[in-house]
Amino acid sequence: MNSQSKASLLHVQGLVQGVGFRPFVYRIAIKNNLNGWVENNNEGVLIHIEGLEGDIESFRKMLIQNAPQASSIASVNETESKLEGFKAFEIRHSSNHSEAITEVSPDIAVCPDCLADMQIQQHRIDYPFINCTNCGPRFTIIKDLPYDRHQTTMQAFVMCDECRKEYSDILDRRFHAQPVACLKCGPAYEIHTKDGKTVRVNNPAPQLAKWIDEGSIVALKGLGGYHLVCDALNESAVQTLRKRKSREGKPMAIMMASVESIHKRFLLSETEAQTIQSWKRPIVLLQNLQPCAPSVSNGMHTAGVIMPYMPIHYQLFEFLETEAIVLTSGNISDEPVTISDEDALKNLGKVADYIVSYNREIYNRADDSVVFVADGKERILRRSRGYVPSPIKLNLETEGIFAVGAELVNTFAIGKGKQAILSQHIGDLKNAETLAFYEESFQRFSRLFRFEPSLIACDLHPDYLSTQFARSLGFETIEIQHHHAHIASCMAEHGLDEKVIGIALDGTGLGNDGTIWGGEFFVCDLIDFERAYYFDPVPLPGGDKVTHEPWRTAVSYLHKYFGKDIFLKKLPFLNGIDTKHLEVVFQAIDLKINCPLSSGAGRLFDAVAAITGICTESDFHAEAPMRLEAAAAKNCRGKYVFDIEEKRIVFWKLFYLILKDLKMGVSVSEISAKFHNTMALLVLTVAKKIRNTTGLNKIILSGGTFQNRYLLEKSIFVLRDSGFEVYAHQKVPSNDGGIALGQMAIAAKRRSMKKDS
Ligand code: ZN
Ligand code: ZN
Ligand code: FE
Repeated sequence: MNSQSKASLLHVQGLVQGVGFRPFVYRIAIKNNLNGWVENNNEGVLIHIEGLEGDIESFRKMLIQNAPQASSIASVNETESKLEGFKAFEIRHSSNHSEAITEVSPDIAVCPDCLADMQIQQHRIDYPFINCTNCGPRFTIIKDLPYDRHQTTMQAFVMCDECRKEYSDILDRRFHAQPVACLKCGPAYEIHTKDGKTVRVNNPAPQLAKWIDEGSIVALKGLGGYHLVCDALNESAVQTLRKRKSREGKPMAIMMASVESIHKRFLLSETEAQTIQSWKRPIVLLQNLQPCAPSVSNGMHTAGVIMPYMPIHYQLFEFLETEAIVLTSGNISDEPVTISDEDALKNLGKVADYIVSYNREIYNRADDSVVFVADGKERILRRSRGYVPSPIKLNLETEGIFAVGAELVNTFAIGKGKQAILSQHIGDLKNAETLAFYEESFQRFSRLFRFEPSLIACDLHPDYLSTQFARSLGFETIEIQHHHAHIASCMAEHGLDEKVIGIALDGTGLGNDGTIWGGEFFVCDLIDFERAYYFDPVPLPGGDKVTHEPWRTAVSYLHKYFGKDIFLKKLPFLNGIDTKHLEVVFQAIDLKINCPLSSGAGRLFDAVAAITGICTESDFHAEAPMRLEAAAAKNCRGKYVFDIEEKRIVFWKLFYLILKDLKMGVSVSEISAKFHNTMALLVLTVAKKIRNTTGLNKIILSGGTFQNRYLLEKSIFVLRDSGFEVYAHQKVPSNDGGIALGQMAIAAKRRSMKKDS
């Protein structure tokens, strides 16, 4: 110890656990001749360093500037400490199990250092499974804790001497990188040709690129599941893929190699550029400037764009002539994405001309995550690879709570300490394969995170398979109203636990009165809610049929507000509809047969999309509102009107004026914009009414309808303009993929109240 030595204690907070942070701290401490220790604590990482002032200074700089890409330092709190005369620097391991849990990090996009190593490290030249402590597969390969190689699907590969040396050298970037591998000892790609041959290749990129450029469709094994890939600029290839996959009309995601190339085809804000390059590598919804092949976006104004995140993606673009490829999930219609090679050969063989797999197992399925940017912030639409299983912190004790989620785009959540750990995107729980995936994932999360349920939170809807699963477990169950859960989910991610104005604009959810809700204005907290205002309910002739046939809902609204006579006039949107069909719908409404009442905002959007002729029949979930949004003219400030009768928000004037506009020949893009503007005005008007009577000023926006960027931004702007504090989703989806978090928060709050009393 030098007489000028000093000691410092640094408390680093943020995302610093399970991302290779302690070995990183170790390396920079050694580089700067510092002694002491580093350890994880409950709220981040603690570092004690001793050495010369100048060396400490340089350590501080490196700590910030060279931190691992998947880490994110929120704050560094430094205090002077007592010199203890340490002779070395060490990583202290605690035996605390909650620490082991933080080691299960999400998968991380390949880092620039590894990409560089592919050119220079002899044992990894062009090696597509290169990784280090800062990057590579994590969640998708882990089977159990502690996070060690033998508990991952890398178990099958025995490290060669060279890899072992790097793995054991604390000064090496691959120190304790569990998936460490090289050409000699690691996984390899396998090409399956149509004639049943399997060829092992070190770098399949040249062959893959050739096939794609030729217009073929390739099934390529990814990190969390198979992808189907083709040239995104080749219309006939995209059409063939659509046909073979029977992927109705859903837009498909594309991959492009660089921000520069994306700039040429899409509007890209600074936040969008950052998001698309983040180590999480989500699909980002961007607005088309110069669209790819028409069948990619299929008439939408946006496309999902993603940048390379596996080494093979980078290698592929070195050989490709096309600058954009379709990268859509490798599954058959609504089934979970394929992860096993056997299933790929059996099922994807019908869709793809070639199958390219590799010989490491995918253990945990994870789709690509999807986000969009609104009001300058990243907002999640599908939370999976790159995000899961990062916990979401709550201000409530959650231990033992299992929130089963809803039915569509399901995710579930388990409670650990004061955290909710959300599952990856599971999908629509209506086919056997998805349900099996759900149950398997619950078993795996329970084991991985040593979770034992004691309280189950589920939706009020008795028919949801998730609700039935909850009941089958035999624990105390709390049923939570769907839209209350939506609002609570947004409150939970913002750490709110107080009375608020909750606005849930949504498709479907069972209400307390047995009707379908979804245009809801609540005064609520995490315990309970009061339904202050709601959209005027309409009958849905045919029940579930309306989601595929929005014209039915349109007919129902017109019938409700103007009676049957309105149909004596010529309504162009009904041109393609059989009059017999229409008669059946009238009868259903009159006799109240299979006509559940719904106040769902999604249904109102459906109806407007149908009446304007934008979408009378829908091929996939939420197609009508998506097309309606896509049609909306920018810079149109016009609006329609609505009435508020006691608690009901009534739309007869809205429909009257839309019909009038249609008759006058006003463009549908203008009508759509006026409709959206009206919805934002409605949100503001009702919010003000509630503020006037309650004094509440915090507004929560949730529900699937707020995936609509036009509506979300407009609502946020007008509310903020009137002095409201507005909260919208960022970390979890505003669609039903976020429901589990809300169920968790409400169950946790109610349980804490019970304990207190
Ligand atoms: Zn790396
Ligand atoms: Zn090796
Ligand atoms: Fe919902």
